[in-house]
Amino acid sequence: MADTASASTVLIRGGYVLTFDGKDTTLAEGDVLVAGDEIVQVARTIPPPPHGTILDAHDRIVMPGLINAHMHSDETLFRGLLDNMPLEVWMLYSLPPLDYGPVPPRLIYLRTLLGAIELLTNGTTTIQDDVSEAPRATLEGSEAVLQAYLDLGIRANVACNLTDKPYYERLPFAQALLPAQAIDAMRDVPPQSGRELLALNEELRRRWHGREGRVRIVLSASAPQRCTDGFLLGLDDLSRRWHVPLLTHALETKTQVVTGRELYGTTIIEHLADLGLLSDRLSVAHGIWMTDADVARAAKHGTVVVHNPVSNLKLGSGLLPLCSLVDQGVAVALGTDGSSSNDSLNMFEVMKYTALIHKIASPVTERWPSAREVLHWTLRGGARCTGLCGQVGVLAPGYKADIIILRRKAPAFTPFHRVCNHLVYCEDGRDVETVLVGGRVVVRNGRPVTVNPDRIFEEIGSEMPAFLPLPAFEWV
Ligand SMILES: [Zn+2]
Repeated sequence: MADTASASTVLIRGGYVLTFDGKDTTLAEGDVLVAGDEIVQVARTIPPPPHGTILDAHDRIVMPGLINAHMHSDETLFRGLLDNMPLEVWMLYSLPPLDYGPVPPRLIYLRTLLGAIELLTNGTTTIQDDVSEAPRATLEGSEAVLQAYLDLGIRANVACNLTDKPYYERLPFAQALLPAQAIDAMRDVPPQSGRELLALNEELRRRWHGREGRVRIVLSASAPQRCTDGFLLGLDDLSRRWHVPLLTHALETKTQVVTGRELYGTTIIEHLADLGLLSDRLSVAHGIWMTDADVARAAKHGTVVVHNPVSNLKLGSGLLPLCSLVDQGVAVALGTDGSSSNDSLNMFEVMKYTALIHKIASPVTERWPSAREVLHWTLRGGARCTGLCGQVGVLAPGYKADIIILRRKAPAFTPFHRVCNHLVYCEDGRDVETVLVGGRVVVRNGRPVTVNPDRIFEEIGSEMPAFLPLPAFEWV
């Protein structure tokens, strides 16, 4: 379905154009012509169309919008809240098994907008949002998320982050170690059944998939150890039939290495392989503790690994064996992860961390990631992970017109040397001036044009005290 709001012609003129096509074609001064929601021409000079908008891009960089392959918008209200906790402890506060109670749909809508505004104004045009909703995944909650993305104008894959196992069965030894009282309290809120959750996905797809050509329903099993095998297979079956990505988390922490051994007698990736779930539709967030054999399994089946370096550092999870993944041909995409474990949603920041932290993994400088490789993981890897290859991540005819324009008269680009280095090491998103998604200008002069961010900040501020009476943290 075409976005009727974008059915116009736009000529972006005279920019420093980075296409990120197969040859990484760069035009020191070039034009990009957009008609409707697609790019129709990229060339040194394109005659202005008789009717249409002209965007002056002189002294500016024109490039594909960034792709955030992994995030959780449900964490957006927890930014700045927690520090110095490993994942398993952090989850007790950020995704508590005995939760704070249902979040009103209006607040879900607002928090989704809040995170998406941060991403969009920092140059991210496609996101893959793996949304948790406690204590139950609901149609209303997911619809609030989807409506926010439609209203803002970003391109979004939305998945319900699902689990059909009770909390105390997801962690080894939890049943023996937790007080009986806590187990009883959790038993009072049993997980939704796999059948109910699959039906929820089907209803969401029926109502929302493909709306305005930008919003898609994709699937998520929170993590293999949090789901029954039958439910995992059910999600994989839907993913195959619908041709949409299936997201999961695996081997983020050392505890998950032990979890695999205790629950399956294998690594968690090996368990997925045994179930026949490794495929080119599956993306695994983190994968830090994958063995060499796990990496080979992912490579063999075309499974994507999404690297979230800022989150991994914040939670002390470890360092992804990136060289091993790249050497064995595993597709890599990049993500922010959620705002509670990051705590920002900025893909420029993620790219810089990716380029930097792997330089400490090996003394062999040839194996250190280059800025260009990092951009490829963001764009090509991101397109692959979101199931949008041939549609996003490249400026070329036939691709969606998801384009960002950055001002070059800025400290990050002065003096101007190697553009990829500037983008990864110097830029942090502040120079993103104009953003188009599907040919429609959604950010102008660094501000969203579809919503008023100040009103959103204000409303969230006034809702927070009722939503989150602060637990007994020591505030510093
Ligand atoms: Zn995650």
